[in-house]
Amino acid sequence: MENNFFDVIIIGAGPAGLAAAQYATRANMKTLLVESKITGGQALQIMSLENFPGLYPPVSGNDYVEAMMLQAIHFGATFVTVNIFSLDKIGDTFVLKTDKETFSSYTVIIATGAEHRKLGAVGEADFVGRGVSYCATCDGPFFKNKNVLVVGGGDSACDEAMYLSSIASQVILVHRKSQFRAQEQVAQRVFQNPKITVLLNTIVLEIQGTDRVEKVIIQNTQEGKKEELSVAGIFIYVGMNPRTALVDMLPKDGEGYILTDDKMETAVKGLFCAGDVRSKSFRQVVTAVSDGAIAADSAQKYVRHQISKGLK
Ligand code: NAP
Repeated sequence: MENNFFDVIIIGAGPAGLAAAQYATRANMKTLLVESKITGGQALQIMSLENFPGLYPPVSGNDYVEAMMLQAIHFGATFVTVNIFSLDKIGDTFVLKTDKETFSSYTVIIATGAEHRKLGAVGEADFVGRGVSYCATCDGPFFKNKNVLVVGGGDSACDEAMYLSSIASQVILVHRKSQFRAQEQVAQRVFQNPKITVLLNTIVLEIQGTDRVEKVIIQNTQEGKKEELSVAGIFIYVGMNPRTALVDMLPKDGEGYILTDDKMETAVKGLFCAGDVRSKSFRQVVTAVSDGAIAADSAQKYVRHQISKGLK
């Protein structure tokens, strides 16, 4: 058990968790980084990370997280991939039960990120993996020279529509409102792209096909007019749901994101939170790594305080 005791356990190996691991290990904390899926989180879907300050020319999200992982391991982080069963605080100790081992620590940093929200259209669930996708980077190449539809009005929908326009013959981007939520420059690129047709005030009613997606029924919400479009793929980017199942007891904002103070501490002493799972106004790789660095710094101060009190 003693070997499985860490100063800090970081749950989630996306940019926030990886940055936290690097900062924690450099502060001489015995650090465990735990991931239950693929290292890198949503950053893996970034074709070209062009807005990270100082990273020029841009690199792919994959190369970026790979470098971060090497950096964290170089400084001494231990990395495990496990299925997580539960996280509890027993006295002053956090206990993480997994399918392999039980780990414990003074502090925990939750960096579990968020996952793509479902649209809820008729037929969506039936065609997942058969034309319905939530990841253009993963599935886009299957739609070379075909017509695809993208749903959403945020940065993800716009970025992915741009990416798909380099593969598909035509991209139709439908958004339920009259204005995009995406950053101005990101939205402008979409409007200027001759291969992308933007349909505003439009919703997807139904996805249809036999074996694979063949068409979608859309509706203009102003005029009520319905239309049938032939598409081979539909890429859904209608926002994210934070992954908070492990820490259900924590206070959250109206959208379910975990509330922290500016030191990234949650309502539970010694339990910190960083990245997209945290309640905040701007979710970017750069804000995720900032959260991770702050959370690690707060965690190491907390650990030193616990040790000075003789607590373990
Ligand atoms: P988002 O910003 O929450 O946007 C979700 C979009 O989906 C909104 O336009 C929303 O419409 C629409 N939507 C939500 N539910 C819908 C429904 N049921 N039917 C139809 N449309 C629906 O999500 P995101 O684009 O995935 O971005 C998530 C975060 O990552 C954001 O903070 C974003 O800035 C960040 N991000 C940044 C970049 C970048 O910097 N290049 C790239 C990707 C993501 P309404 O506008 O009507 O609410």
